[in-house]
Amino acid sequence: MKALVFAGIRKMEVREVPDPVMDQETDAIIRVTSAAICGSDLHMYEGRTSATPGMVFGHEIMGVVQQAGKATQLVKEGDRVCLPFNVSCGMCFNCTRGFVNACLTTNPKGPGGGYGYADLGPHRGGQAELVRVPFADFNCLKLPGTPGDDFEDDFITLADIFPTGYHSAIMANVHPGATVAIYGAGPVGYMAALSSFLLGASAVYVVDRSGTRLRMVQELGAVPINFEHGDPVQQILKLRKENQLLQGRLRPGEEKLQGVLCGIDAVGYQSLDRGDPSHEKPTQVLEDLAQVVCATGSIGLIGVYFSGDPGGVDQKAKEGVFNYPLGMLWEKGITVQTGQAPVKRYNAFLRDLIIQGRVKPGKLVSHRIALEEAPQAYERFLMRGTGEGANFTKIVLKPNG
Ligand SMILES: [Zn+2]
Ligand SMILES: [Zn+2]
Repeated sequence: MKALVFAGIRKMEVREVPDPVMDQETDAIIRVTSAAICGSDLHMYEGRTSATPGMVFGHEIMGVVQQAGKATQLVKEGDRVCLPFNVSCGMCFNCTRGFVNACLTTNPKGPGGGYGYADLGPHRGGQAELVRVPFADFNCLKLPGTPGDDFEDDFITLADIFPTGYHSAIMANVHPGATVAIYGAGPVGYMAALSSFLLGASAVYVVDRSGTRLRMVQELGAVPINFEHGDPVQQILKLRKENQLLQGRLRPGEEKLQGVLCGIDAVGYQSLDRGDPSHEKPTQVLEDLAQVVCATGSIGLIGVYFSGDPGGVDQKAKEGVFNYPLGMLWEKGITVQTGQAPVKRYNAFLRDLIIQGRVKPGKLVSHRIALEEAPQAYERFLMRGTGEGANFTKIVLKPNG
């Protein structure tokens, strides 16, 4: 079959690779109709992980079951399915408690397996014509309709970005009336904004510098904050203050509450230094959130931080060790949650919101392309919403045409 292969830093190639074969009778083989490129694929593409040449990336996968193992009971040939990016067994101590993001049996290197990702186990990615799914009954989310219908772009977001954005809002304790600051208006930041509104947020501020990305979150009803127009913390505090003064709500002393209750980091360890955006400052977003989130608030870190980063700014960063404003967080009594989303906890509910027409997350998809066009698309997506990559908001590959 044809697959997109990581050939080295900033180099993807379409190659012939062996077809996947059934390993266990609980597996299934999926013919891929949509495989999205994720912002987290860019970390591998840029050489900022332990990904090695020859790997097939792709953890955002949907398609049709081509072959179902004899031991499968729920999944049948011809089923239209979307796969959570987590590869999980459904039976271990963590899976049975709902923490499918920390499955103990699908990754020999540590808790949590995934398709086509550095250090997430031996599961080949889905940016290819076919992909093997372990524990297919547990991992396949069944979908109505037929490939290529009006829901195709919406359903592919269920593999990762929509449940991941939703999980970030849960980690940040977003609830009816809550105020939210989201750093990063990429695909996960967009879904975090959409999810915050689903959870009843009264105001959502989203920080980025890409005009295209900020316009898209504005369409959802969020307030765009361009960090190239000044310190985003001060911009948000000013807007909150004006808003609260209009309501005449503040009493003496209460101006200390002028931040937001919920903070979401949808950027991660490759955040830019605001003082000099040509450099990275891995703690920039952490520092900003510690300031802008009110005492008693909550922060969800969904943007990734790895314990091994060959391109880290210094030795500590290479080991994933950062100066974190723990004092300020402790004094303010802020809750911080971290880690990957347990997609299966949410994906059926989010699918049903899509089917009922309550949300249209597929609006984010800007490009539907053949595998052969993917190497250039990776280059453009790497520009993260700026320059020639401005309109590449979400790219979906169509390996089978
Ligand atoms: Zn992803
Ligand atoms: Zn498990």
